[in-house]
Amino acid sequence: MSALEIHQIPVLEDNYVYLLHEPGSEATGVVDPAVSEPVLAEAERLGWAITHILNTHHHGDHVGGNRKIVAATGCHVIGARRDRRRIPGIGVEVDDGDRIRLGEAEAEVFFVPGHTSGHIAFWFPESAALFCGDTIFALGCGRLIEGTPAQMWPSLKKLRALPDETRVYCAHEYTAANFAFARTVELENAALMARGEAILAARAKGARTVPSLLGEEKETNPFLRADVPSLAAAVGMSGRDPVEIFTEVRGRKDRF
Ligand code: ZN
Ligand code: FE
Repeated sequence: MSALEIHQIPVLEDNYVYLLHEPGSEATGVVDPAVSEPVLAEAERLGWAITHILNTHHHGDHVGGNRKIVAATGCHVIGARRDRRRIPGIGVEVDDGDRIRLGEAEAEVFFVPGHTSGHIAFWFPESAALFCGDTIFALGCGRLIEGTPAQMWPSLKKLRALPDETRVYCAHEYTAANFAFARTVELENAALMARGEAILAARAKGARTVPSLLGEEKETNPFLRADVPSLAAAVGMSGRDPVEIFTEVRGRKDRF
């Protein structure tokens, strides 16, 4: 086991691609390469030779760089077994509970359907790092493009169960827009309002708000709080089933 060096690359409008370097073995992974050129250029600048691609799901803004990166480096592509026909160049097929290695660093794979039917997340416990694609965003969650609330809510709970100090390396800088919505859900959440001020200040300076800490998501992200009584009360659904409450909050966001 070993801790990773993590390098964040902003690409396209608002995507983040991550380079993960394991210093002992020199293994280097790329999480969700939307594009190839900036990723290959950053790896080159850092002197890191890419050995693996880790894909969370099949969307083009997460796998768009796969083919060219494989062609340039000969790296292995790790993705969900159920999505093997939709992940370009997949060579290592994984499922819930599997462990993968990046040199000496080990990650656990979680199956987290909802945004897509085959979405997975990678958790590196030694690095306190969670790569969750479009499942959890800072103050948000992915749209339910292929899944249902009854799938997404357990997926979010599975990730929420990780330690508070876990850094949430999501795939998009959506945080300011997510705050604009979240504040309409939980007007009386003081932690949310304080976080929102910090987010707006950061964005005003052009600073990134990702990664966030899972502990702060637990306190402020409305999509992780469908079973918290104060959120249920805030949406007028005290005592109701968390899946129904999650459905309501996700529906409000879709119409926001
Ligand atoms: Zn997506
Ligand atoms: Fe995406």
